Amino acid sequence: MMGIRGQLTLLVPGVVAIALTVVAFAAVRQSNREALEEFKELNLTALDSLSVTVATSVAENDMAGLDTVVAHTAERLEPHGLLELAVIDDDGRVMAHSQPERFNRVLTDGFTQQAIASEGPLWAREGNVLRIATPANSGIRWATVTARFSLGQMEQTYAAVRRRAALGTLGLFLFIAGALFLGMNRVVIRPVRVLEASVKRMGEGHLSTRVPALPGREMAELSDIVNGMASALQTERENLERTVAERTRELSEANARLERMAVTDGLTGLFNHRRFHEALHSELLRCERHKRPLAVLMVDVDFFKRVNDSMGHPAGDELLRRLAEVLSADLRQTDLIARYGGEEFSVLLPETTKAEALQVAERMRESVETKINEGGRWTQRITVSVGVATFPEDGAAAEEVLEAADRALYVAKRQGRNRVMGAKAA
Ligand code: GH3
Ligand code: MG
Ligand code: MG
Repeated sequence: MMGIRGQLTLLVPGVVAIALTVVAFAAVRQSNREALEEFKELNLTALDSLSVTVATSVAENDMAGLDTVVAHTAERLEPHGLLELAVIDDDGRVMAHSQPERFNRVLTDGFTQQAIASEGPLWAREGNVLRIATPANSGIRWATVTARFSLGQMEQTYAAVRRRAALGTLGLFLFIAGALFLGMNRVVIRPVRVLEASVKRMGEGHLSTRVPALPGREMAELSDIVNGMASALQTERENLERTVAERTRELSEANARLERMAVTDGLTGLFNHRRFHEALHSELLRCERHKRPLAVLMVDVDFFKRVNDSMGHPAGDELLRRLAEVLSADLRQTDLIARYGGEEFSVLLPETTKAEALQVAERMRESVETKINEGGRWTQRITVSVGVATFPEDGAAAEEVLEAADRALYVAKRQGRNRVMGAKAA
């Protein structure tokens, strides 16, 4: 599709050319008419003055004088385009002629008839020839002077005028069309191009783009509207991005909370049974790879049922929470304690030998025995029994090590509780 520039390039010169042609045509016509008028007046004056002499000569019957004055005048007017000059009587008979051989001929054409009948001067254009006639009066009408002039010379001048007019028109056309085009370019084409480029960038997603200041009220208003739209879109997009970022953060926080909940024991805040198993399996693989030892402790509260029975389940819960605190206090950063279930706790001690694990277990047992009832909260003595097993001595797989620790715990219980028992390597 043709752009604004192309359309204006055709339209502007087209309109200018038509207007200039009309004006130039009218001007040339007018100047031609004036030139013809001037030519006619000039020659009519010459014939008028001739007619006075002619009247006198005819009145005096001086035919020789008439021939002389006609020849003389013809000679004078020839450079001005005179073709023939004749003096005729009322019948159209030639009394004197610029070409003497035409003497005595009778002219019968329409113009001559009219000229003989006319009271005053007469003229007519016949193609490239101008005919003029005037009566020769001196008291009465004695004769009629009639002449034919060639308009060739005037036509030549006229052609030169036309050429000059055409050249002038062309120059004016180029000037006006150029000026109009430059003006249009400044006022319309360039602003539209600038607007187009800006809107295109906005369309590509660069919403911070703004249309620069444009000349003209309409263009300025248009660019304000476009800038307003871009700014509204930009704000909208920023809001949307903020909302999305907020929702994403909330979602990942919720996910993290869920993940924590999935591996946490609700009562004590320790890791749960599920997390303990995951940790046991991954730690076992790691220790296997690095040929490092791993210890597992199973801790069971002694006669816990009696706490419930005598003080109620809420008190039993409270005791479990307190136990979680005391047992955790004796552990390293890398150790992991979980509530295995009921009133049983399990502990994972990476990089720990059987001897070291027994020491840790003993310290835990002692802490419970001495610290839990410091305030005298509990009506019975609170103690724990602990079973200790290690990888690789007591088993190659997680379940084997766990079962070994369980068996050791069972032995501790059987032997009277409140004690630590190491698994007997098979
Ligand atoms: P033992 O020395 O042989 O381990 O005796 P025990 O009483 O500790 O063992 P038993 O298995 O007979 O009883 C465990 C009790 O722990 C039974 C159960 O009601 C109680 N228990 C398990 N989970 C919870 C809990 O979350 N809260 C409370 N309050 N009690 C619990
Ligand atoms: Mg138990
Ligand atoms: Mg118990």
